[in-house]
Amino acid sequence: MIILVVNTGSSSLKYQLVDMKDEKVLAKGLCERIGIDGHMNYKTDEGTVFDKDTALPDHGVALQLVIEALTDKEHGVISSMDEIGAVGHRIVHGGYLFNESVLITDEVVAGIEELCTLAPLHNPPALVGIRACQEVLPNTPSVGVFDTSFHTSMPDECKYYAIPWEVSEKYHIQRYGFHGTSHRFVSERCAELMGGDASKINIITCHLGNGSSLSAVKGGKCYDTSMGLTPLEGLVMGTRSGSIDPAIVGFLCEQGGMTVEDVNAMLNKKSGLLGVSGISADCRDICEADAKGDHRAHVAREMLLKSVKRYAGAYAAELGSVDAIVFTAGIGENDIELREKVCDSLGFMGVKIDKAKNDCRGKEVEITADGSAVRVFIIPTNEELMIAKDTKAIVEAL
Ligand code: ADP
Repeated sequence: MIILVVNTGSSSLKYQLVDMKDEKVLAKGLCERIGIDGHMNYKTDEGTVFDKDTALPDHGVALQLVIEALTDKEHGVISSMDEIGAVGHRIVHGGYLFNESVLITDEVVAGIEELCTLAPLHNPPALVGIRACQEVLPNTPSVGVFDTSFHTSMPDECKYYAIPWEVSEKYHIQRYGFHGTSHRFVSERCAELMGGDASKINIITCHLGNGSSLSAVKGGKCYDTSMGLTPLEGLVMGTRSGSIDPAIVGFLCEQGGMTVEDVNAMLNKKSGLLGVSGISADCRDICEADAKGDHRAHVAREMLLKSVKRYAGAYAAELGSVDAIVFTAGIGENDIELREKVCDSLGFMGVKIDKAKNDCRGKEVEITADGSAVRVFIIPTNEELMIAKDTKAIVEAL
């Protein structure tokens, strides 16, 4: 079975066409800087077919270009879309409706739509992806794989907020967590690299991209994670504030004349690296401006670093002992300085990295220094493979 995996992020769309016979990736690529300007690449066995700037005003346009590339007469890897047996979609928020991966039906689409208020940056682009695929492949089953499932193992003291219990129950208010497919993939891969037995290992997984979260993974299961009811909580992100004093919301409504919608939009879309720097949501742009001496870019950068250090330190304390730290996603896989500074800040618990090994981008590598009490890895995430496996299992059982 050939599966098209669609992973729609806030400013990116990753895609892979996987032949599940041998889990071979027939083609893959990334559309990035969607809504900013646009860049797309398309790779097959023969290497990069193209890697170019191209206008990507929204995710719908990006997906259309992916489909054209896959079936292109000259560079395509399939002759028609009929060869695709199923589509697997990464869906950010399963909320109170979806505890596991599901076959996408009209009801499921309605459910994902209902949850858009909880994930305003991510569920809408996923719906665009689902609808675009259903239009092109009306008879092909599709499966939704939710970022929230991995976190369902959290104990109640991590899962619930310290608000009245009845309110949590009535409104389904709890920490759902996100990037679960990524945290699951890298923690399983890390356990494999460390010799296999995930049940005996405690890992801090750092998924640092446009959206970022840390997880404390205890014995193979998620114990705590930094994102909450929505992907707004936790670390400083591209356009999201991360955790702030919740009283700021009421303050801005009362004193600033803002509506709740205004504040939500501000915290989700105009905050984080973008809001602090006034320059960009993209970490590379922030680093560039920081290097040129821009004060606000410098503060944004320092805030990002501090938030990663803070959660990593907190999770080390919660877990009691840490066997490994994993860096993944756009920033985690590529930002050499960030990894170095975060690991240096954890030196008090014996974390030591090898600077020469850390001097790399986007590949799986252990960067632990001799004598370190904790092993440190860069593991490029592979949410697509996890999604393809879930999709295959569900579609084969139909
Ligand atoms: P998304 O959450 O949209 O999937 P990604 O995981 O693709 O995001 O991560 C995007 C982030 O990774 C951007 O902030 C980008 O600047 C950052 N990034 C990519 N390459 C580098 C690099 N070489 N150095 C620092 N940051 C980088």
